[in-house]
Amino acid sequence: MVQSNDFRRQWIEVGDAAMAAVQRVGGSGWYILGNEVKQFETALATYWGINYAVGVANGMDAIEIGLRALGLEAGGKVLTTPVSAFPTTLAILRAGGVPVFADVDDNGNIDLEGCRAVLRRDNSIRFFVPVHLYGIPLDLIRLQELKDEFDLAIVEDCAQSIGAAYADLPVGTVGQVTATSFYPTKNLGAFGDGGALLTDDNDLAIRAASLRNYGQSSLYVHDLAGLNSRLDELHAAVLRDALLPKLHRWTEARRGIAREYLSRIQNPAIARPTPPEGAKPVWHLFPVFIAADWRDAFRAFLREAGIATGIHYPRVIPMQEALLRSFNATTPAVVPKAERITATEVSLPIHPFLSSAEVNHVIDTCNEWRP
Ligand SMILES: *Cc1c(COP(=O)(O)O)cnc(C)c1O
Repeated sequence: MVQSNDFRRQWIEVGDAAMAAVQRVGGSGWYILGNEVKQFETALATYWGINYAVGVANGMDAIEIGLRALGLEAGGKVLTTPVSAFPTTLAILRAGGVPVFADVDDNGNIDLEGCRAVLRRDNSIRFFVPVHLYGIPLDLIRLQELKDEFDLAIVEDCAQSIGAAYADLPVGTVGQVTATSFYPTKNLGAFGDGGALLTDDNDLAIRAASLRNYGQSSLYVHDLAGLNSRLDELHAAVLRDALLPKLHRWTEARRGIAREYLSRIQNPAIARPTPPEGAKPVWHLFPVFIAADWRDAFRAFLREAGIATGIHYPRVIPMQEALLRSFNATTPAVVPKAERITATEVSLPIHPFLSSAEVNHVIDTCNEWRP
């Protein structure tokens, strides 16, 4: 089977370094918020080119903590995308915010012109959580313009886009805060849950570090009602020693596979993604778009050929039951393009451990398919 992810192959590559890191942490006798987390935070901030990183328990918490550190309070409106992993919006709800949705573009990424229209209509919106979906970066120049024009506090959700760039600007450098995830399937995936937020602002970093640790300002002194959302020493050590050093090569491997898919999948029934000019995606996922009525048949054809596929995502966020029930949900958004993405998207396997024979098999099978 050509799988969507292959963690066993990853372990073969990083297992020795990971075990050495576990040995070191075990022998140190220090397991929560020690030197390992500090050193990983420094390494991640350096990799990203942002001043401060704060390790947290997962990507969803990173978004919530980021919004709270930026001053979001109960009832504050937060502009975001209807096509993403649900935790993007759930983090807004958990922070007390009211999500407001703008529609997406043909790649499924939030449409920044549509955002401008929403922000013009409602000048009470001060917060924005954009997502660089599938690892395809938004146009960061236009994101910066939007931030300046409407004086926005932005948490960029970079859970799928670590290492991506637009016009040589790294994603995560426009928002005051960047949030990312180390969930195992992510491009920098750990052996369990983890996340981080990054910021150039020292005060925000201090507030975030307090929020992740019960809101303590010093031992047993609680100035904020925070979370328990710490990155473990074990995960931090494994991330720094075994995983982060591989990220550049893994990203290049994803890009190599995407180049093959983009140039060699030639089937009029399969629409490929179209990253904007100047974008350097990191291809967390590789979406293709199939007419809604044919999507199941396409997936079945690939499954027959031993190829796993996914759907990211099958339902727009404003129509999720949890959101419709939520006490601070807004009226359902009208997002026809988002509806179309959720009806037509299929994710092809793209991970750094695919062999070239497997990549060729995916391409040949796509080219053989007839609706
Ligand atoms: C995975 C993901 C999250 C949440 O990360 P967790 O670590 O699973 O909490 C948030 N946003 C996006 C876009 C994601 O892909």
